[in-house]
Amino acid sequence: MNLREKIILPLAGFTGLPGTPGPAADRSARFAELYRHAFRNSPVYREKYSAAGLSPDSVKELPDSIKLPFLEKEELSLPGIKAGNKATVVSLASGSTSGPGVNTRMDGSYLLKRYRMLLEILYSTGWRLGDAAFAFHPEEYGAAALFSKALKEGALGKIVFNFFQESVLYRLFHNRKNFLYSSAAFGNFSAERYFSELRAFAPRLVISRPDILCALMRQAAMKGLEFPEVESVLCVGNILSSSGKAALEDKFKTKVYNLYASTELGYVGLSCPSSGVWVHVDEDNYLAELDGTEVIVTDFSNYHTPVIRYRTGDAGELVRGRCGCGREGLRLKIKGRKKDFFENSGGERFYACDADEFLASEKELYALQIAGKTGALGLTVRPGGIAAGALNEIKNRFCGRFKISQDEVSISCEAPLSGTPSGKFPFFAMEHKA
Ligand SMILES: [Zn+2]
Repeated sequence: MNLREKIILPLAGFTGLPGTPGPAADRSARFAELYRHAFRNSPVYREKYSAAGLSPDSVKELPDSIKLPFLEKEELSLPGIKAGNKATVVSLASGSTSGPGVNTRMDGSYLLKRYRMLLEILYSTGWRLGDAAFAFHPEEYGAAALFSKALKEGALGKIVFNFFQESVLYRLFHNRKNFLYSSAAFGNFSAERYFSELRAFAPRLVISRPDILCALMRQAAMKGLEFPEVESVLCVGNILSSSGKAALEDKFKTKVYNLYASTELGYVGLSCPSSGVWVHVDEDNYLAELDGTEVIVTDFSNYHTPVIRYRTGDAGELVRGRCGCGREGLRLKIKGRKKDFFENSGGERFYACDADEFLASEKELYALQIAGKTGALGLTVRPGGIAAGALNEIKNRFCGRFKISQDEVSISCEAPLSGTPSGKFPFFAMEHKA
């Protein structure tokens, strides 16, 4: 154990070894207890469940979940969602760029649990406290942006928390360096600058949204740039396709882990070296279900702001069975945001993972965006300056792959990409409502 581990691990209550899943009976008991707690202490849940004809004893085991109405994103922001009188230690805002914003409130013990889960995830990638880690972040997650936002809100607690997290915990103990980028990164950018930063810091672990990392990798491959070697890459925040993952592993000579996590829920699942982009659901701490294609998640650990049968807004698939790594259990594949898709005339829906698979098969492209509506799709691709003939061939392959008629699609490499100013880059800018 190194010095940093000696200080942090006992505080976090983490042994340094990944936990083993407990018996299903325990999960049923945890689910029932959380449900009872929410019913008794949270006005929002009490009202919701009473209206559905439920009582505090309606949930006894996991399959009883189907009796419970789903929790909408808007409901998570209601003050009455809070269950009990414990003090909120931190309130994290999220989602304001992709719909209504949510404030995730945590008390001290839940915050600590979240941190312990983060350490478990990081340790699963081979990283240890103190090993250099490099994180690519959209600008909106930068300390300066968070600071000015908290200042405007007059949230002193948040300022102290952000300072502690960024400057003490992450910089000092996690040895993490943040690299901020804006959405211009997907327009005219040079991978060289990113790569020289990476090489200079020589991280053991890179943490990044896969969109920026895949765009960098594709551009570098086109320009013949040398790839920095890293031992592990942890992808989180948006879609990673199988082809994107395979290419990242090949180019960076690294192991790529896919993490499904959100501010509201924490760390729901992590892939293993055998599971591809599918993540092993942390079934000790979460119940994952599907409503149609939408992923529904319950977090067993948050008693402060219970999150029970939460509509994540993500489209996905679930399978149960034995993984190549030997682990038995539930695996989840995220396909994209539920509202971000395009359809062909046969009614087949395609999500961000399909767009990313297509992008991976086009060797001369590093970015792609799909806008418009079904029947009139506009593709914008990067880099700029692709000859008209080559553009047309890309369009032909797109129409063939997704069975869409040629006259329903236009393609351009000169139109601007509609990224958010914050640096999040969407595959889609569609006009329909899901
Ligand atoms: Zn596995």
